[in-house]
Amino acid sequence: MIEANPHLSGLREGLRCLSADDVRRLLPMPRCIELMAEAMRAASRGGIAIPPRLISPLIDRSASFAVMPGSSLEPRMYGAKMVSVHPDNPARGLPGHQGFVALFDHDTGQPVAIVEGAQITAMRTAATSALATRLLAREDSRTHGVFGAGVQAATHIEAIACIRPIERILIWSRTSEKATALAHSLRLPGCQIRVTDDPAEAAACDIVSTTTSAREPVLRGQWLQPGCHVNLVGAHSPTTREVDDEAVRRGSIYVDLRQSALLEAGDLLIPLDKGIIAMDHFVGELGEVLAGEAPGRIDAAQITLFKSLGIFAQDLIAAADVYRQACEQNLGSVVQFQN
Ligand code: NDP
Repeated sequence: MIEANPHLSGLREGLRCLSADDVRRLLPMPRCIELMAEAMRAASRGGIAIPPRLISPLIDRSASFAVMPGSSLEPRMYGAKMVSVHPDNPARGLPGHQGFVALFDHDTGQPVAIVEGAQITAMRTAATSALATRLLAREDSRTHGVFGAGVQAATHIEAIACIRPIERILIWSRTSEKATALAHSLRLPGCQIRVTDDPAEAAACDIVSTTTSAREPVLRGQWLQPGCHVNLVGAHSPTTREVDDEAVRRGSIYVDLRQSALLEAGDLLIPLDKGIIAMDHFVGELGEVLAGEAPGRIDAAQITLFKSLGIFAQDLIAAADVYRQACEQNLGSVVQFQN
């Protein structure tokens, strides 16, 4: 029998299951942004091992299943996020991404937590874009242009408003009714929120976030203003992208992790392949900027471009923090998995 080690919370109590509501309660956006700084730093210095994720199409190719594994020494945890991606779900009133983060104890291998994954994903992705924005956007940024009107659009609007005093938000989405519904659902006192039919208008903001499931560019480089910061969140395969060559050519590029960008980011790989950009266009990872190993913005007219792909370090750090707080407050349900 394994002796209970007092340093390994969860060893005695079984498997703690935490819902989306638990995540909402325990992971407010400002806290999540700080956690993502920790995650990005750890990922860049190799403190979290992140093997390439597996994205497996279903047998009939109607949807896909992603498994993102990883392990860390601080916190001493390993595990994986398992997510189903059903692109047709939103049209049926169901979430496009569903799943959970499974956490295991590093020393004993005991499964200690299952944390609802869609809420973690919605928060950690936007929080990482907010971190990129904090590091790279001009201090005087006041307008935010958002492409898309889904889950990520909503959390990005919240997250970016935590980082800069946003006065005006412009939302462009291919279905303008959804953009209008999103605009009406937002509560941001002192901020003007408007839907636009013209993507060029949304692109002419100080900060631009693309959060669509588009497979071809929706954002054109000719629309971007000198000095803006762009978060590219949507596309995550070598053959799909949200921005055209010109946007990438004009931008100084930052990524979450170089190795995953070079495997998966069509936004960057397509212009690289065509010779529009070379590797020296890549300035660094967010963790390298945080560690002072890569420069941030160096002049007011520079266009900074953060390509987000999403890495398990974000999920692990966010879920482990939620789990730790849940243990302290005795939240969630504990299942006796092995008895
Ligand atoms: P949602 O389904 O909630 O929203 C998707 C949005 O994209 C909707 O506004 C939809 O518009 C729009 N859209 C879909 N197809 C197109 C198209 N061809 N052209 C223009 N707009 C389109 O998804 P999420 O918000 O959860 O995710 C958005 C994207 O971000 C996805 O690609 C997802 O895979 C990615 N993602 C990235 C993460 C990261 O870490 N970088 C993490 C999680 C998600 P409409 O309402 O008209 O359908």
